[in-house]
Amino acid sequence: MALKFWTADVSGLSRTQVKSKLWEELRLKADIGTKGITISEAALSSLHGNAEFSGQKLGGGRNRKLHTGKELPACIYLPYGLKVTFNWNEASPYVIDIAGGKQVLTYEGNTFGEIQYAKQPKYHERKSSDGVPLGLIGRGDFYDRIVGVTYSNECCYIDKDEDCLFCNINYNKDLYSEKFGPYWRTPKQVAETVQAAFEEGVADHVNITGGVIAERRELEYYMDTGEEIRKALKVDAFNGTAVATAPTDFGNIDKLKEAGFRTTAMNLELWDKDFYKAVCPGKANNSGGWENWINALEYAVKVFGWGRVRSNFVAGIEPMPKTLQGFEYLCGKGVVCSFNIWMPNVGSAFEGHRSPETEWYIDLGTKLAEFWGKNGFTFDKIHDATAGDHRLPSDIFRIENEVFDIYEAAGKAE
Ligand code: SF4
Repeated sequence: MALKFWTADVSGLSRTQVKSKLWEELRLKADIGTKGITISEAALSSLHGNAEFSGQKLGGGRNRKLHTGKELPACIYLPYGLKVTFNWNEASPYVIDIAGGKQVLTYEGNTFGEIQYAKQPKYHERKSSDGVPLGLIGRGDFYDRIVGVTYSNECCYIDKDEDCLFCNINYNKDLYSEKFGPYWRTPKQVAETVQAAFEEGVADHVNITGGVIAERRELEYYMDTGEEIRKALKVDAFNGTAVATAPTDFGNIDKLKEAGFRTTAMNLELWDKDFYKAVCPGKANNSGGWENWINALEYAVKVFGWGRVRSNFVAGIEPMPKTLQGFEYLCGKGVVCSFNIWMPNVGSAFEGHRSPETEWYIDLGTKLAEFWGKNGFTFDKIHDATAGDHRLPSDIFRIENEVFDIYEAAGKAE
């Protein structure tokens, strides 16, 4: 049964009116993305009384500052159903509060309407055969139909002080280990988690990522994990994305495909070579450099197919024309580019910086969604290649192509 992510009554609206409401909501979402969001004590306490509450798990994570105390929500759904990841900023003008017994989003005293939260899938509480809760191995999400697995929470680039300036993976490692114990997800644990999530109907796609492992042992890991997943699902190939660094031996890309993954991702993050070298020194110095990364992406399209390879960007660090140049080039080669709103987070070298303006992101997302359309990427392909359906370009693509379920409710009695 499809879940309903919106609370707004659209029974009196036409599809065109719903589209215009979604565009308004998209601007709101992008604004929250750049400013962050916070929640009142009353709203947070009430959430914690709900057995289905699904939280962030980490106090650092993607927040502006370290959060201590009650676990924060992982995301919210706005009144017309757009998903917003919860990037906590205690100074944000966007505050979730309670009004009339409902959880509502407010901005400087004005209320935007009722919001909803992600529900915890049942499998999160189950345990792997070696006793680890499956929800700590891979988080399932009904909205994105994805299981997100992070196989390790450290990146060896820190050893030479070459970790990416926007990334706080190594900072989070200590927080996580303190709270939940040692962290390494074995291939068998991952396979059991994927099987449980797929069987429950939470997800149809798994994205597996993690920090860079010393001596580039990710490949061996992905081979073993692919084999375990195929065994668990009893299939020859599955809807999974192996997120890797660009190899210098491109035969390794063929091996990822042979391991059963439908898609792969190599996240370039920035297009300008000098920005790339300065912001992602580990990637630039240890993966054959910028040119090798581009060649590897193009090779991966030959192996996995058109629209079956992703490259994610952290948008807002380099000037927009540079990022757009990269999007246009890579999409034209069959690579599904995507981007996150850059939220400078705690523990990264950029902690304390600010994101660009809201309209900057709307503009970038609109142009990327156009490149997707122009290069023949369907929503199904975008879903399979990206790590979740909730980023701005996906929203824009779905709004414009009327892919959201809310369109079907337009003009119909509740
Ligand atoms: S390669 Fe960069 S983005 Fe990836 S985990 Fe390492 S530091 Fe973070």
